[in-house]
Amino acid sequence: QQCATAQADATLAGPPPTRTRAHASHKGSYGDVAVLGGAPGMRGAAVLAGSAALHAGAGRVYVAALDSGPDLTTDAPELMWRAPAELALARLTVACGCGGGPQIAAWLPQVLAEAAQLVLDADALNALAADEGLQDRLRQRRQPTVLTPHPLEAARLLGSSTAAVQADRLAAAQTLAERFGAVVVLKGSGTVVAAPGQAPAINPTGNARLATAGTGDVLAGFVASHLAAGSSASEAARHAVYQHGALADAWPAGQALTASALARAAN
Ligand code: AMP
Ligand code: MG
Repeated sequence: QQCATAQADATLAGPPPTRTRAHASHKGSYGDVAVLGGAPGMRGAAVLAGSAALHAGAGRVYVAALDSGPDLTTDAPELMWRAPAELALARLTVACGCGGGPQIAAWLPQVLAEAAQLVLDADALNALAADEGLQDRLRQRRQPTVLTPHPLEAARLLGSSTAAVQADRLAAAQTLAERFGAVVVLKGSGTVVAAPGQAPAINPTGNARLATAGTGDVLAGFVASHLAAGSSASEAARHAVYQHGALADAWPAGQALTASALARAAN
């Protein structure tokens, strides 16, 4: 599509598999997700990621907000609120950063060391870009990890500019994947999914109706739910990005696409 010094393998993109639910299964069979984020004034980001994970199929979702304000349970009473220190990171898929503000940096050493599976978005990526010690810890991780930067977040991680990232999106995503040993989702029109040692893929779905607040948090929740269900990091990323864009492509004309409606539309 719009960029191209690296070769893209578009055939890698596709919808998530339809998951059958065995009759004797229970909520523990579908994976546990925790969202760590939601600093003051940004609680909604963590709620969106958590709701998206639930709607995309996760069995249980915990939300750990980085302040002590009231729970936002109005339209998602299924979410279970915890203090960050109460999360059993070693058995959870953690979506980290969503609306995390600067407070998220303090939690990253432990999250990077312990989270069974990890999605890093938004403020977690900004904290990472600002701290080489955290970058070393990310490189040392052996558990599945997905980074979901938008172009400005990718530019901060690369120490370059948004214009440079956008001029060669495939190369930017691949460079980040190799540098950090993680799967990288470079968001925006023509989202790129890159993984160490693999050809990057350009996602074929999605449109500018996704250009609205909170849709990135919803994507982080989708990736987390696929990881929690047992997909590899690159499968989880590709399936989530495809699904997120396909929902927007199927959106009824004349009906508002908001992030919370997008999360509810997943299945
Ligand atoms: P964020 O930048 O974190 O708010 O995330 C925005 C989400 O919407 C990402 O998944 C983007 O890929 C998607 N998105 C935003 N604008 C567009 C666009 N013009 N075309 C396709 N997807 C978009
Ligand atoms: Mg975002």
